[in-house]
Amino acid sequence: MDQRKRTEKTKITLRKTIIAKKNAPQEAWQKTLRIAAGLRLGVGICESNNCVSCGAPVDRLGQHGLSCSSGAGRLSRHATLNDILRRALVSANVPAAL
Ligand SMILES: [Zn+2]
Repeated sequence: MDQRKRTEKTKITLRKTIIAKKNAPQEAWQKTLRIAAGLRLGVGICESNNCVSCGAPVDRLGQHGLSCSSGAGRLSRHATLNDILRRALVSANVPAAL
């Protein structure tokens, strides 16, 4: 590959990286909302696995993380999830009292 092609490939890679970083906050928000809604609705949000903190089995509902005795910030995560859902519902003009 000659220098011009390498430079062009580097520019394309850099452009993709910049676009990915610009979209990161939106993607993080979408992921957070997906998890919060899944937890609230009781639908599968992950694959079955073992908790990395305590080793307990975690089912597809992923609710173990909300009550893990080894996890830090359990109550703040619960409150945060409720707040995220409440704000999402209010922004969609759906009355919410969580
Ligand atoms: Zn655990």
